[in-house]
Amino acid sequence: MGQGLGKREVLLEALPRMTFERILYIAHDHLNRSLGVLREADPATDVVVLVESARMTSGRNWHKERLFFLLSSARHFANELEAEGFTVRYIQAPTTIDGLNRARDEFGELPITCAEPSSFRQFAQLQAFGGSFVVNDFFLTDRELFAQWAASQKTFVMENFYRAQRVRFGILVEGKKPLGDRWNFDAENRLPPPKNYAWPPYLVHERDEIDQLVATQLGHQPTDAWATNRAGALRQLENFVEHHLAGFGPYEDAIAADNWALHHSLLSPYLNNGLLSAHEVVSKVLEAFEARDLPIESIEAFVRQVIGWREYINGMYWFLGEDYRDENQLGATRKLIPMFTDSSKTKMNCVKSVVADVEARAWTHHIPRLMVLSNLALTTGTNPQEFLDWMREQFIDASDWVMVPNVIGMAVHADGGKLMTKPYASGGAYLNRMTQHCKGCFYDPKKRVGDDACPFTTLYWDFLDRHKETFAKNHRMAQQIDGLKRLADLPELKLRAQEVLSGLDQGTI
Ligand code: SF4
Repeated sequence: MGQGLGKREVLLEALPRMTFERILYIAHDHLNRSLGVLREADPATDVVVLVESARMTSGRNWHKERLFFLLSSARHFANELEAEGFTVRYIQAPTTIDGLNRARDEFGELPITCAEPSSFRQFAQLQAFGGSFVVNDFFLTDRELFAQWAASQKTFVMENFYRAQRVRFGILVEGKKPLGDRWNFDAENRLPPPKNYAWPPYLVHERDEIDQLVATQLGHQPTDAWATNRAGALRQLENFVEHHLAGFGPYEDAIAADNWALHHSLLSPYLNNGLLSAHEVVSKVLEAFEARDLPIESIEAFVRQVIGWREYINGMYWFLGEDYRDENQLGATRKLIPMFTDSSKTKMNCVKSVVADVEARAWTHHIPRLMVLSNLALTTGTNPQEFLDWMREQFIDASDWVMVPNVIGMAVHADGGKLMTKPYASGGAYLNRMTQHCKGCFYDPKKRVGDDACPFTTLYWDFLDRHKETFAKNHRMAQQIDGLKRLADLPELKLRAQEVLSGLDQGTI
């Protein structure tokens, strides 16, 4: 038994040695008793092994809040399985394979079984080690089914996949037609942050002994934002359905200065490490919709995230293959600018606030990720792989399958448009509408030249100009490229863009 699991180690040593038939390997993102290889597990014949590898804990510059969450959740889960009667080994080892070898040293050359791993790298490692896999049912769409859908498409538009999912699961549909006669309520769901609005209080997750031990080992003072066991994750789900679901849709794209979570569910960490299943989360939301008078625009918006986006991104990760992560079709070579790793290195209010949120809790919702952080990486021409590494390391919910398509395809358009038909580049006007950060910022979102011009505005036009040939044939970019042609001050703007880029590199903008 590994460090941090306490007295049971002693008790287990005293038990008569049982004869096991299988070793079940549980990855740190497969923490669910009812899914994966544990679905059919039997304490009489199966021994359960979790491996906390040194590669996982110290191989990269991981955000400590993220590590804390993943490690503490896994150690809680190991304890829960043990309390249920399983023989569990939580092994700390240099690599996962070293850990599994140690389990075999103890239990003999038993077959090792696990759910299909969630990353190409772990899949290859475990396959080479001779592990056998059961279908990964932490998603509602298995990899083969998704590949069939993708192979049948001319373009991989998420909306088409999502509609097929609605019909396949019979969610918010009447036959093959959408409930409320519309598939999509995005038009209603773009409200700016409200003024003088009473956000519900944040749910607080108290820390227990296991948490404290993990925190001490990491040298980290954890927040109370994240649960580290299933009971806490279920509380978060109830809290969302009760207090946030109704308001989720309208404000889902807003970035508020007075609240870091808005009406977002904060469930992605638990969906991605297995403490909650997509099925139970969607079922709870649909039950609430049946029982209460909730607006369909909020229900649809949430359902879209879980049965649409989440499944689509995972499906595309596997469908596009391992080399997709290396795409860089816009030839972006800039090194990661200092403000990503230190919020004090910028005067840009929006970026400072979003990076400070990431520093504090390893999380911001999808719009700060896309329209602030990714927009900045895209328009500065930051190298996609450097930005991908940073996103993977900093976010609490950042599995490889999430971040590779989201960053390479959606965030920085490095795949030449395989996922998204146009890049998500925007100037300060969008952020002025959707955030409360422009008032009081050193920069002016309406200005594109001059010392106080908003860097987003300057860089947006500079980005379009740098890539105008690439986007010339993209009809969805025609309006922007036309706008570029009408810019009388383009030469001046190009000079200002050089100053901005150099200031960003030096951490002075
Ligand atoms: Fe961000 Fe520009 Fe607004 Fe400042 S003016 S907060 S940099 S968008």
